[in-house]
Amino acid sequence: MQNQRRTVERIEEIEAIARAAGAQCRTWQWLKNFTALGIGGPLAAIVYPSSITGAAAIVHRLDDAGLRWRALGHGTSILASDALHDYVAISLRLLDERLIFDGVLVRLHAGYSLPALVYAATERGLGGLGSAAGLGGSLGGALRMNLDGNIWSLVEEVVVAEGGRLKACATRGAALTASQRELIEQSLILAATLRLTPGDPEDIEREVRNSQQSRMAAQPFGVASSSRILRSAEPEPAGAVIEQLGLKGQARGGARISDTHADFIINEGMATAEDVFALTDLIRERARRERGLELEYDVDVWRDESAQE
Ligand SMILES: Cc1cc2nc3c(=O)[nH]c(=O)nc-3n(C[C@H](O)[C@H](O)[C@H](O)COP(=O)(O)OP(=O)(O)OC[C@H]3O[C@@H](n4cnc5c(N)ncnc54)[C@H](O)[C@@H]3O)c2cc1C
Repeated sequence: MQNQRRTVERIEEIEAIARAAGAQCRTWQWLKNFTALGIGGPLAAIVYPSSITGAAAIVHRLDDAGLRWRALGHGTSILASDALHDYVAISLRLLDERLIFDGVLVRLHAGYSLPALVYAATERGLGGLGSAAGLGGSLGGALRMNLDGNIWSLVEEVVVAEGGRLKACATRGAALTASQRELIEQSLILAATLRLTPGDPEDIEREVRNSQQSRMAAQPFGVASSSRILRSAEPEPAGAVIEQLGLKGQARGGARISDTHADFIINEGMATAEDVFALTDLIRERARRERGLELEYDVDVWRDESAQE
């Protein structure tokens, strides 16, 4: 029979699972300290595996014990509710593995920072990452949030946790098949091997710089904000729709739709998730009513589903 106790009542079990895999475990954390928006309620625990094999073992043991978990990258694309998050977050930030270059191939763990990857590749005269230049977040978050994105054209192999072991999935730069997509959607991504392109170091640096500059012009910097908050299925970008609706600068509590980049919501200091949801509800309702458009979240919304059960 499934264990009906809440995750917060099973902290000792979580600590024991982490300990057995040589991982660090921090209990009762505020998610707002781990999201770029600076928003998110209390979280039962964060586990930091020290190796990808340890991470695979932890996922398996949590699953076996009926303990819910979520992958936490660098929190740039998460909108977390203010309520209790009654699950375990697994962070790959403290993994021991580093970048390994082998000719044009680079293998890295999924917690690795995208900006650090772009920097290291550029230093070695390896290109192909231009579109990722200027983005925050981790490799795992980028792969998970862009299942149809260009980044997958670089991926030779992705490694995920399955049944307590590492499962390698060869993608060879092709679009994901339905079964690969399903596997990746449901798994903790642990590592990947990317095929980069050698080139003239000056050309690569220029491409990276240009991409960084165009991103800096297209998104707010130096403020607490997630990545783009909403997206449109139509060719017209959500930001243009929000701007045409005259919603730039609208505020609820401590959250404001950026005055300069309409598709970003800024935490002005004390914003709650409720403030942000009030703004996204307003935008979505106006887009539906006045433009017949359904805008979807472009960030992952973390609520505690057990609260609704
Ligand atoms: C080519 C490219 C283009 C992009 N374009 C844009 C853009 O135009 N605008 C923009 O704002 N952002 C863009 N992004 C940013 C990107 O989509 C994410 O914002 C960022 O990379 C998420 O990383 P994170 O570590 O912060 O993830 P988080 O915010 O921590 O997590 C996001 C989601 O990924 C999941 N996740 C995180 N790590 C893992 C893992 N190891 N295994 C499984 N799931 C995981 C989380 O559970 C969550 O569901 C782009 C990224 C790439 C690579």
